[in-house]
Amino acid sequence: MNKQILLSTPHMGAHELEFVKEAFDTNWIAPVGPHVDTFEQEFCQVTGASHAAALSSGTAAIHLALQLVGVEYGDEVFCSTLTFAATANPITYLGAKPVFIDSDRTSWNMNPHLLRQALEHRARIGKLPKAVMVVHLYGQSADIDPILQACNQYEIPLIEDAAESLGATYKGRSPGTFGRIGIYSFNGNKIITTSGGGMLVSDDAQLVAKARFLATQARDPAPHYQHSEIGYNYRLSNVLAGIGRGQLRVLNERVAARRRNFEIYACALGLPGIEFMPEAAFGRATRWLTCLTIDPVAFGADREQVRLALGEQQIETRPVWKPLHLQPVFAECESIGGAVAEDLFARGLCLPSGSNLTTEDLERVISAISAVHYDNRKTHTSLFMA
Ligand SMILES: *Cc1c(COP(=O)(O)O)cnc(C)c1O
Repeated sequence: MNKQILLSTPHMGAHELEFVKEAFDTNWIAPVGPHVDTFEQEFCQVTGASHAAALSSGTAAIHLALQLVGVEYGDEVFCSTLTFAATANPITYLGAKPVFIDSDRTSWNMNPHLLRQALEHRARIGKLPKAVMVVHLYGQSADIDPILQACNQYEIPLIEDAAESLGATYKGRSPGTFGRIGIYSFNGNKIITTSGGGMLVSDDAQLVAKARFLATQARDPAPHYQHSEIGYNYRLSNVLAGIGRGQLRVLNERVAARRRNFEIYACALGLPGIEFMPEAAFGRATRWLTCLTIDPVAFGADREQVRLALGEQQIETRPVWKPLHLQPVFAECESIGGAVAEDLFARGLCLPSGSNLTTEDLERVISAISAVHYDNRKTHTSLFMA
């Protein structure tokens, strides 16, 4: 029986345990402590963010971000459609409604022209959204400049979901640090992980202070427990922040390893009908996941056939995110465009992409995919010859 090859698994470095031990030795086993503060500072150094609040998850960070830019019951938020549900779920926590925006083919991320058109239209009818949520998918930044220009023109705050794109660049800077608020995730499958965790960043110190306040049950300054607002229990544990500090030290290595996976796949899988997710000229992608699309006619098998064939060999792959406008739970929501995201979902596959994959692992994935192509071609040829 072959060893299972998974999509993206945690990859610890040399220092995480030291930091965790330090938390134990000093008894900072709480959602507060020196690792939390230092992790925030070190995260700012790595990303160029001005201020950061370490939180219990990326989803918690999105929830707070939406609330901090003033999203309330009945509001609308424009949101990338090609993403994980966690991007949009917090919009509904606040009683607001997502309006989904299609991707472009250059980056697979929010199409800036569609966004601009939609905002122009909404301005004309006096129904502008309360915020725009752009996602930086699979380790690649969206085209931030035109998105930010459109948002600025209509004075709409931009929130960046950079959960999948820590370590990427857009024109030399970190996606997540351009909008009013950016968020990151340290879930177990992300490029670096604290097992679970998230970060909220902004140039606005007061806003980040408010995020910390809301994340610690909104306690007013008083000797007794006093509350004038509803808060949350969203702070990151000091133990997990220790893991995060260790992981930050290997971020560049993790990016290099994932980009190397991509290079190996791209070199070996130059098969008819296979196209890899493009890397847009405006930045450097981390290739958090190596994603490709399969044209069933040219390749000889469709995405599902490939996924199932690999599954039989204990190789985990996943379809590209199912667009949120196709999700049953968001069926009532408005969608602006959607055909590009639908096509990427229909034909797109994510390959095993962990930074800890071995060359043998990659070779197994490559020969499994090649086998599907050559086996089907053989069948077609023999049918033709018969
Ligand atoms: C992982 C992820 C999130 C959620 O982060 P968690 O830390 O798991 O809550 C949000 N958005 C995207 C695009 C993600 O991939």
